[in-house]
Amino acid sequence: MLELSTPVQYVKGIGPRLAEILRAKGLETVDDLLHYLPFRYEDRLNPRSVAELRAGEMATVVAEVRNSGLFKTRRMPIFQLTVGQGRNRLKCLWFNATYLQGKFQPGQMIALYGKVEEDRDGQLQIIQPQFEVLGDINEEGGADEAEKKTAASLEIGRIVPIYESTGQGKLTPRWFRRIIRSALENLNPDLPDAIPAAVRAHLSLLSPREALWRVHWPEAGESFGDLQSSRTAAHIRLIFDELFFIELGLELKRREQKAQTGIAFQINDAARQAIKKILPFHPTAAQKRVLKEIATDMQTPYPMRRLLQGDVGSGKTIVAFEAAIIAIENGYQVAFMAPTEILAQQHYFSARRILEKAGYRIVLLTGSLEQDRKRDIRRHIAQGNAQLVIGTHALIQDRVEFEKLGLVIVDEQHRFGVMQRLKLMRKEGGGEQGGVRSARAVSGQSQTVSPQSSSTQSAEPDVLVMTATPIPRTLALTLYGDLDLSVLDELPPGRTPVITRALPDERAAEVWDFVRREVAAKHQVYVVYPVIEENEERELKAAEQMYRQLREKIFPSLHVGLLHGRLDPDAKERIMREFQRGEIEILVATTVIEVGVDVPNATVMVIEHADRFGLAQLHQLRGRIGRGAAKSFCVLMHGGKVSEEGQRRLDAMVRTNDGFQIAELDLELRGPGDFFGTKQAGIPSFRVANLIRDRELLEAAKHEAAFVVAGPNAEISREEVARALKAMRGRWASSYGLAEVG
Ligand code: ADP
Ligand code: MG
Repeated sequence: MLELSTPVQYVKGIGPRLAEILRAKGLETVDDLLHYLPFRYEDRLNPRSVAELRAGEMATVVAEVRNSGLFKTRRMPIFQLTVGQGRNRLKCLWFNATYLQGKFQPGQMIALYGKVEEDRDGQLQIIQPQFEVLGDINEEGGADEAEKKTAASLEIGRIVPIYESTGQGKLTPRWFRRIIRSALENLNPDLPDAIPAAVRAHLSLLSPREALWRVHWPEAGESFGDLQSSRTAAHIRLIFDELFFIELGLELKRREQKAQTGIAFQINDAARQAIKKILPFHPTAAQKRVLKEIATDMQTPYPMRRLLQGDVGSGKTIVAFEAAIIAIENGYQVAFMAPTEILAQQHYFSARRILEKAGYRIVLLTGSLEQDRKRDIRRHIAQGNAQLVIGTHALIQDRVEFEKLGLVIVDEQHRFGVMQRLKLMRKEGGGEQGGVRSARAVSGQSQTVSPQSSSTQSAEPDVLVMTATPIPRTLALTLYGDLDLSVLDELPPGRTPVITRALPDERAAEVWDFVRREVAAKHQVYVVYPVIEENEERELKAAEQMYRQLREKIFPSLHVGLLHGRLDPDAKERIMREFQRGEIEILVATTVIEVGVDVPNATVMVIEHADRFGLAQLHQLRGRIGRGAAKSFCVLMHGGKVSEEGQRRLDAMVRTNDGFQIAELDLELRGPGDFFGTKQAGIPSFRVANLIRDRELLEAAKHEAAFVVAGPNAEISREEVARALKAMRGRWASSYGLAEVG
C-alpha cells in the first residue's frame, strides 16, 4: 500500500535509477508524482476521423499505418508517413527525422496529434505530429503479455493524459501513464482531507482521491475544454488545495500580528488642524480614501502593517506625511526610510518645506554625515527631541534608538525593495511571529514605554510600506498577503499623459531633429542606453560611445551630459545638479536614472534598444518625464529583429500609461518567478496552481481562509493548520516563513 509520503522508488516499475531521474525533476514522493499533471489530453474516445479533418485545426487522429519512408531533398531528409481510414488518407512529415526509419509497420494503429494543414495539392497533412503507436508498449521493455494488454487499454478508447517527457526523453508520456496509474491503484484508499468540511461543502470540492483519479484519468463525459484549461472539478480541487493553505497561513500570520499590542493613536483636533495647515493642494479622492484607511488602522490598538501601492507620481509622500502628523501630534516619533541617500535628502527637503508650518523638529540621518554630527543626531533621537527622523535603511541596520517610536514609514522606489525589506524585517524582527517587526529592530530593545499606555509591555509601532512598483493583485495576495493593502489608483490633476511611440533605428535622424526642437523650446531630454561600455553584445551601442557621438556629431552646439552607475557619487551628484539646473540639456544615461530622479522640465525620453528592457523598467524610466505641465514624449527606439516578446512589451508601452496594466502584462510575460527579477524572490513554486491562470481560485481561497480563521466556530485548529502546512512539505512554506505558523 502506498502512502502519499512514500518515496517514488517504491512505486511498481520505478527502480533506484529512475527514482534518481525523477528526484532531479523534483518528484520525490508518491504525492509529487500524483501532482505531476498531464499538460494536455487527447480525446481517443471520439477522435476525429480522417474524413472530418479541416485545415487549420489541432486534432487527434487514430488511424492505421499504410506506408512510410525517408526521402531526400536537396536541403534535408524528410520522413513521410501515410495513415488511412478506409479510403481516406493523411500524410505526416518530419524533417531531418532519419531516426524514424523502420519505426512503423503497415497495419499498426497509431494516434497522432498536431495541426492539420493543406499541402500545395490541397491534400491534408500534419507536419511533425506527436504520435504514439498504439498497443506497442515494447519501447520501455520488460512488460509481460498481461501488462501489455492493460497498458494498451490505457491508450485507446478513452481520454488519454499526455505528460511532458523528461529525463532526456527516457520517461515518455506513456511511461508516466503506466506508472501514475499503478501509483493510483495502490494508493491507500483513505486519504486524509485537510480542507475543513465547511469549505469543502461550500465549494463542492471533490475528495482528494477522486480528484487525483479524475485529473489523470478523466471520465468519458468530462468536458474537453475544461480539461485543457485545467477547469475540471478535479483540477479545481487540486489547485485549491495549494492556494488555500498559503492563504490560510497568511491569514493566521496576520491575525497574530493583530494580536500584538499596538498604539491606539487618536485623531484629535490638533492632528486635523495640522493636516489642514500643511496640505499644499486638494488631495485626490484616492489620497483621501487611503489616508482614511491608514488613519483607521492607526486608531486601533493593534500594530498597523500596511502596504501602500501607488504608481510613480501618484502622491504617496503627502499621504505619508499626513500619517506622520497623526503620530507626532499623539506625542510619538516617526522614522521615515528611503532606499538611497539622494532620495532621503529629497524627502528631507520636502518634509522641511511642507511640515515646517506645523513646527515639527525634523532630522536627516544618513551614512555620509560626519561622525560627530551623527552622534548628535542620534542623541536627539534617543532623547525624543527629533520628531521626524528621515534616513536611509541604515536606520534599521544601525539600530538607532528612539525614545518613543510610533510609526515607521518605508519608502521603496524600486522593484526589489519591498520584498527585501520585508525579508530583512523578518530576519531582524526574529522571533516566532516572523513578520514585520522592524520597528523593534529600529528602536533596539530599549524603547521606552509610552506614558499614556497602561500596558507594561512596549507597544509595537505602526508600519507603512510604500511602493511605486505596481504589484498585480495575485502577487499582492500571496507575497504580501499578511499586509493590508491600500492603492493610490489616481494621479493628481493636471498631468498630461506621456505620448509614447516605438520607432525603428532608421528614423533616428527625425528623432534627433525632434530633440533639437524640444531643446530650442527650453525643454530637457534623456537619452537612455542599456549598457555603458561596448561589450560582447556587439550590436548594443554603448552609452559612452554614443555620448561622444551625440555630443560631437549630432548636437555639437548643445550641452550633453553623461550619467552612469560607475561614476563616483560626487560626479553623479554634480551631473544631476547640472541637469536639474538646466545646464545640461541632454542627459545620456544608463538605467541609473530609473530611481527617484525628479526634473519636471525634462519632456523627452529617448530609449535606445528599448525592446531589450523589461516592461517594469521601461515604465519606471518613462515615469521620469511627464512631471510638469508641458506635453512629454517617450520614444522607444529599436533596431533589426525584435523578438516577439520584445514587440509585446513595446506595444504595451505605446498602448497604456497605466502601471497596473503594465504590471499585469509583465507578470504574464515573465511568470511570477521572474517578475521581481529573481527566482529567489520567495515566490512559491506551485506544483499545480498558476498565479496567472488561477486568479479567481486564489481570491476564493483567500475568502475561505479568512472565513475559517475568523468564523464564529472557526473549524480548524492551529494544530491542524500546522499539520496541513507540514504535509505540504513546504518548498514554498518555508521560503515564506509560513512554516512558523502554529
Ligand atoms: P510618488 O507617489 O511618486 O512618491 P509624490 O508624492 O512625489 O509621488 O508626488 C508627485 C508630485 O505630485 C509631487 O510634486 C507632489 O507635490 C504632487 N502632488 C501630490 N498630490 C497632489 C495633489 N493632490 N494635487 C496636486 N499635486 C499633488
Ligand atoms: Mg515618492
